[in-house]
Amino acid sequence: MADEIMAAENAGNFIEEFIMEDIAKGGRYEGQKVHTRFPPEPNGYLHIGHAKAVCIDFGTAERFGGICNLRMDDTNPTKEDVEYVDAIKEDIKWLGFDWEDRFHYASDYFDQMYDFAVELIKKGLAYVCELSPEEMRANRGDTTTPATSPYRDRPVEESLELFERMKNGEFEDGKMTLRAKIDLASGNFNMRDPVIYRINRIPHHRTGDKWCIYPMYDFAHPIEDVLEGITHSFCTLEFESHRPLYDWVIDNITAPCKSRQIEFSRLGINNTVMSKRKLRQLVDEGYVNGWDDPRMPTLCGLRRRGYTPASIRSFCEGIGVSKTNSTVEYSFLEHCLRDDLNENAKRVMCVLDPVRLVITNYPEGKTETFEVENNPRRPEDGSREISFSRELYIEAGDFLEEKVKGYNRFYPGNEVRLKSAYIVRCTGCKKDENGKVTEVYAEYDPETRGGDTPDGRKVRGTVHWVNAENCIEAEVRIYDNLFTDPEPDTGDKNFIDYINPESLVVLKNCKVEKSLEGAAAPANFQFMRLGYFCIDKDSRPDALVFNRSVSLKDGFKKK
Ligand code: ATP
Ligand code: MG
Repeated sequence: MADEIMAAENAGNFIEEFIMEDIAKGGRYEGQKVHTRFPPEPNGYLHIGHAKAVCIDFGTAERFGGICNLRMDDTNPTKEDVEYVDAIKEDIKWLGFDWEDRFHYASDYFDQMYDFAVELIKKGLAYVCELSPEEMRANRGDTTTPATSPYRDRPVEESLELFERMKNGEFEDGKMTLRAKIDLASGNFNMRDPVIYRINRIPHHRTGDKWCIYPMYDFAHPIEDVLEGITHSFCTLEFESHRPLYDWVIDNITAPCKSRQIEFSRLGINNTVMSKRKLRQLVDEGYVNGWDDPRMPTLCGLRRRGYTPASIRSFCEGIGVSKTNSTVEYSFLEHCLRDDLNENAKRVMCVLDPVRLVITNYPEGKTETFEVENNPRRPEDGSREISFSRELYIEAGDFLEEKVKGYNRFYPGNEVRLKSAYIVRCTGCKKDENGKVTEVYAEYDPETRGGDTPDGRKVRGTVHWVNAENCIEAEVRIYDNLFTDPEPDTGDKNFIDYINPESLVVLKNCKVEKSLEGAAAPANFQFMRLGYFCIDKDSRPDALVFNRSVSLKDGFKKK
């Protein structure tokens, strides 16, 4: 089995192999249009794991010239929230996929589901069972003993009547269930007369109090698929052992088509958690600032962090589709973003931890400008002007009072290149009463305009800077992993115990070059030597706020 799948992956992936067989001559969908669906449960925001599923559902349909539906899987009335539906749509659109007019709610099919259940009862393939959940558990048997139910042979008429009364709300929650009559001795416990309807007398956010009974996922999902004419229904690996039930439902109801379920592995990424329940806990208990906190693996969080749709799609492409669950390195996600921004982000200068640099031999009051390229990788992005004067800001960390081995930046006596401007020689510094450096001094060489030495002498260090006269103050938020443990939710671990207290560091006193005046989201930049940054939604034209999306240094190693 494993070898067969590997071979298929080389040819695209195993899902595409199956589809090619299915639509080929003699295949089960010969000549048909590939029709898939993405079925999120609207009980939270989409995360990067969902992005993988979205790319498989929409992307596969796209590659075969087919179509993909968006369906809110809202059969469970306890958990849904209207707020999430719009957010889910926004995220999928942002990724670049479109369901056009094919937007559905599973709850729209409740009437048909009920009718199909009645059909099964009439065929002798379903019965009302009065075992309580505890009794059912006690009677489920084990690998050598079959399950039992004293209600299994109840007459069809009786089940029909009770099922209708269940629907009408005559019985309390948990009093009865409708079970499919399949095989109490099956080696697959999902086939041991699974419950397909349960009583739940709570209103549903779309159907109100019309229903007192709700279908179970394993019964509802194949029906949703066949009613929408889905050819291929992709889901994650944990549903593999449910596939016989999926097929059983379709085979035993008057289904308008026969959808095929294909499972793929669930995406996990290290140093984060990926279930909506856990993400909701982080939000509800205030460990993060909402679903779109830039540390969250949600699509809205990643978007706010500065991730681009292209970077997420290339990530999903890169991790591939397989049948083996595995954890992907967070650094691979960052690698995909860096790749995209390296090509496309405008280069600018920002000083995160400023110290004043005074060019003592530069005329007071003089200002000159330099023309610099916005992106050396994309000449078509043009250039901008940056201004230079006697007083600048550089990073405090770019100055040392004494040279240490391998350090090429500012220290007294050393020559340094101010990026795109001049070469200057450091002459000293001024300190306050605590010994903190408050000003650095240097002299410039007027012959080095643009940063080149006319005599070819070597200048090792190049630093970024901004003009103290016209730079803009900004807040910059630096993010790190939300969890200190690479696998915060495995085994007995409580992921809350591993929250990284330094996952957010806010720098208040940063200085950015004047060209960023009025910048608004969405906008990605490379701050030279520092990393990739974007404008945060909290940013105002007169109070800029940036998020660090990712550092420059690539921690991803191809294995
Ligand atoms: P969660 O535990 O995060 O709530 P879920 O599977 O319950 O996940 P759904 O809204 O039901 O979330 O999922 C919609 C679709 O996305 C399903 O087809 C599901 O299999 C897929 N999906 C969810 N999480 C992942 C993941 N980590 N990797 C790949 N696909 C996923
Ligand atoms: Mg779920």
